[in-house]
Amino acid sequence: NTRIALAARPDGEPTPSDFRVETVPIPVPAEGELLLEILYLSLDPYMRGRMSEAESYADPIALGDVMVGGTVGRVIESKDPSFANGDVVLSFSGWQTHAVADARHVRKLDPHAAPVQTSLGVLGMPGFTAYAGLLEIGRPERGETVVVAAATGPVGSAVGQIAKIRGARAVGIAGGPDKVAHLRELGFDAAVDHRDPDFAAQLNAACPDGIDVYFENVGGKVWDTVLPLLNTYARVPVCGLIANYNLTSAPEGPDRAPALMSRILTKSLTVRGFIQSEFVKDQFVHFLADMSGWIADGRVRYREDVVDGLENAPDAFIGLLKGQNFGKLLIKVAQ
Ligand code: NDP
Repeated sequence: NTRIALAARPDGEPTPSDFRVETVPIPVPAEGELLLEILYLSLDPYMRGRMSEAESYADPIALGDVMVGGTVGRVIESKDPSFANGDVVLSFSGWQTHAVADARHVRKLDPHAAPVQTSLGVLGMPGFTAYAGLLEIGRPERGETVVVAAATGPVGSAVGQIAKIRGARAVGIAGGPDKVAHLRELGFDAAVDHRDPDFAAQLNAACPDGIDVYFENVGGKVWDTVLPLLNTYARVPVCGLIANYNLTSAPEGPDRAPALMSRILTKSLTVRGFIQSEFVKDQFVHFLADMSGWIADGRVRYREDVVDGLENAPDAFIGLLKGQNFGKLLIKVAQ
């Protein structure tokens, strides 16, 4: 069993030496457990938070422990009557080639219904994050303008496409001309490059009627540019702040919190943070039905960025925090 453990807590941007590749014996399943050969590992921005000691909604990974993560694996030894060898399951087995999982905590996947790795992306946690955050908090109305950044990623691309299905205007923000071109292919009404020196003017031009829903994925400079464009009663589901994840201190400059609070007051803004898990119980079945239908009829398309080999996970993850991925980032661990 090859696995990747947290070797050190990053100071700012993670580096390869924060990870350690280890070889250990393949674990043995007990009654009620499954031995899995991992096929795909999902790499997600939240993992940066788990590498740090700072308080958050989930506990940090202990130094020396295996990096956490969602996985798709094949059962190679079943000690539970509801699973057979060869079944493919969704589990939370982390950065390793083999794992033992409690059969009660895995979900069997149907490889004929959808490619199994979509359970980590468009049909899994990121797609669900977009669905729940946009529909429960953003609540876009027909004709309204919805803006989302990290828009070619699994969360952002689903946000824009669901906004279109709801009859809203979708404006995507992404880094670089290739990503911007991809957003236009996906049917976004406008797409803007946040790395362009002219970004603020371009976003302004892309939102002639202001912004009614800003689905916040990044924070930083993008948020500063969006804030003055928010309309009265705009909704801001705060989903992620990836521009901040590698910060080691507060940014320089005057304290802008009073100006922000004043804007929230005078524009009657709704700014509401969320963690997708809070909506799972009520919404996940509806999400699976809706999203499967939208994929089948071509109204939602998705892009995957698949990197071969578990040993490449640290570099791929470091790149994710800098926008080097293009689509849902997955590690193909085994065939
Ligand atoms: P993505 O695949 O979109 O990857 C992250 C992207 O963020 C990068 O590709 C890059 O895209 C963009 N980015 C990175 N740094 C910056 C920056 N400084 N300014 C602007 N954009 C930047 O990730 P996901 O779709 O998986 O996740 C999107 C967001 O949703 C993240 O913030 C994540 O933490 C959050 N999230 C929250 C959940 C919740 O329950 N609240 C659940 C799941 C995800 P580009 O090149 O276009 O800039």
